[in-house]
Amino acid sequence: MQLYEQQTIKVHNSLTGKKEIFSPLNEGHIGMYVCGPTVYSNVHLGNCRTFMSFDMIFRYFRHLGYKVRYVRNITDAGHLVDDAEDGEDKIAKKARLEQLEPMEVVQRYTVDFHNILEKFNFLPPSIEPTATGHIIEQIEIIKDIIEKGYAYEINNSVYFDVVKFNKTHEYGKLSGRKLEDMIANTRELAAQDEKKSPQDFALWKRAEPQHIMRWPSPWGDGFPGWHLECTAMSTKYLGETFDIHGGGMDLKFPHHECEIAQAEASNGKSPVQYWLHANMLTLNGKKMAKSTGNSILPGEIFSGKNDILSKAFSPSMVRFFMMQAHYTSILDISNDALLASEKGFNKLMEAISSLKAIPTGNTTDFDILSWKASCYEAMNDDFNTPILIAKLFDAVKHINLVKEGTESITKDDKEELQNTLQSFVFDVLGLESKSGSNVGTEKLEGVVALLIQLRKEARENKDFATSDKIRDQLASLGIQLKDGKEGTTFSVS
Ligand code: AMP
Ligand code: ZN
Repeated sequence: MQLYEQQTIKVHNSLTGKKEIFSPLNEGHIGMYVCGPTVYSNVHLGNCRTFMSFDMIFRYFRHLGYKVRYVRNITDAGHLVDDAEDGEDKIAKKARLEQLEPMEVVQRYTVDFHNILEKFNFLPPSIEPTATGHIIEQIEIIKDIIEKGYAYEINNSVYFDVVKFNKTHEYGKLSGRKLEDMIANTRELAAQDEKKSPQDFALWKRAEPQHIMRWPSPWGDGFPGWHLECTAMSTKYLGETFDIHGGGMDLKFPHHECEIAQAEASNGKSPVQYWLHANMLTLNGKKMAKSTGNSILPGEIFSGKNDILSKAFSPSMVRFFMMQAHYTSILDISNDALLASEKGFNKLMEAISSLKAIPTGNTTDFDILSWKASCYEAMNDDFNTPILIAKLFDAVKHINLVKEGTESITKDDKEELQNTLQSFVFDVLGLESKSGSNVGTEKLEGVVALLIQLRKEARENKDFATSDKIRDQLASLGIQLKDGKEGTTFSVS
C-alpha cells in the first residue's frame, strides 16, 4: 500500500476557482508540466520562488509514492521582448547586445539556472525539453489548427483566430476574461497590423532578414509563437490531457489561456485537469522583475553582496523563508522578514540535530501519531507549507521539553518522530541541515580552523590588514568568527 492511498489531496484549481479533490488520470501516476525560464538572463529570486513551489509539490507527490513525470521546459526561442506579439526575440536581443551566438546566451543562462537550483536543493525534473528542440512538433500542431479552421496564414505568418475559436469554445475561461470585453478595451488594429483581430496571437512568425533565430516551415523561414512550445512539449511528453499544469500567476493570461485554445483547437480536448498558479515574490511591495530593476539575484543573497540585506543568508534558509508562505499568497522579501525567519530555521535545525542524543523513557507526553496526521493534513490541503511548519514547531517544543527533562519520550516514538521530521523537513520541504552534509561540514571546519590560525598569527605579527581581511571575507561568505576567552569560534548562516 502506497502512502497516497491513505491521503485525500485538495488543490486549488485556477480553471474552476475552487479547491478540488485531486484525482490523477492514471492511478498512481501524475503528469505535471511547469513553464520553465526564458534563458536570456540570470534567474532572480522571484523566478526561483515559482519553481520552488512546484519543486515542493513534486517532492510531496513523490513522498506519497506517486510516480511523477515532471516536465519543466527551457524557453530558448519565440519569447519576444515585453511578451509582445511583434519585435525582437529576448534571446536574440541579448545575443546582439553581447555579440554572442543565441545558443551561447542560452547555454550561459541555462547553466546559471541549474547552478542556482542545485544550491536551493531542487530535484531535477524528469524531462527538461527546449523550444528549439521541438520546432517540428510545433509546426505539426500549427498544420492541425489550420486544418481545423482556427488559424490563418498571412504574409508568411500564421495567427490563431480567436474570434472564430470563441464561437464554439470559451476563450478566457482560465483567466476569467470575456472576449467581448477584451475587444472593447483594445485599440483598433494599426494599419500595418496584419492580424484579423487584436486578440489573435501568433503561432508562426515570418523572420525578417535581420532576425537570426529562424527555421524553415511550410510558410517560409520563421519562428514559433511563444505559447505554442508549451502545447507541443506537454502534449508530446504527457499526452493530450494530463494532470497538472503549473506556472506563475503572471502566465495565466495570455500564455496559459492561449495554450488551452491551441490544444482545444488542434485535438478538441481540454489539455489539463488542474491548473495550479504560484503567486509572486515582491520586493518593496512590488513584483520582483528583472525589467524594472526591482530584483535580487540568489547569488547576491548567498554572498551578502547587495544593498538590500544586512547579511548573507544560506540557500536553505531562503528556502525555509519561502516555504513559510503558502504558494498561492504574495510573499514580500525584506531584511527583517529574513532575519525573523532565520531564527526559526536555526531553532528547527537545532532541535532536529539534538533529537538523536535525547534520552528516552517509558512514556511519551506527546501524541506523535495525531501530530503526524496533522502534518499530512496540512500538506493535503493545497500544499499548506506554513501550517506544516507550525506543526513542525509543535514537535520542536516537545523535543526541547524532553531535553530539559520536563517531558519524556519512548524509544519507538522518538524513532517515529525522527522519521517523520526527516520526511517533512528534508524530503518534502527540501531543506538541508545548516551546513549541508557531514562530509562538507568536516571539510569546512578544517578550512575555517586553518584560517582562524592564520588570522591569529597575523594578529600576533600586528598584521591587522590581513587579520581583518580574513574575518571580513569569511563574513561575506556567511561565516562569522567570534572571539572569546576560549579562542575563536565560528558560525555559519
Ligand atoms: P520567465 O523566465 O520570465 O518566463 O519567468 C519564469 C517563471 O518565473 C514564470 O513562471 C513566472 O511566472 C515566474 N516569475 C516571474 N517573476 C516572478 C516573481 N516576482 N515572483 C514569482 N514568480 C515569478
Ligand atoms: Zn509555458
